[in-house]
Amino acid sequence: MPEVTIVPKTGDINKQFGVYSNVCCGYEIIIREGASFPNCPNHRKSETTWNFVETEKIQQVVIRKQSQSNPAA
Ligand SMILES: [Zn+2]
Repeated sequence: MPEVTIVPKTGDINKQFGVYSNVCCGYEIIIREGASFPNCPNHRKSETTWNFVETEKIQQVVIRKQSQSNPAA
């Protein structure tokens, strides 16, 4: 399965919950699915582009959610 590279910019709707880092100054945000990408929090007048950042933190959150409906011993 080929990886789809999505490079969202300010105003785009997020399609994948996760951590994103902007190209403007590397500011990282966590943004949920369905939310729109903001301007850079440090440079509010500038539109910017957000790169998806894979983190272990996000994976842990997903695992916890899954274990709620299917508890492991
Ligand atoms: Zn910035």
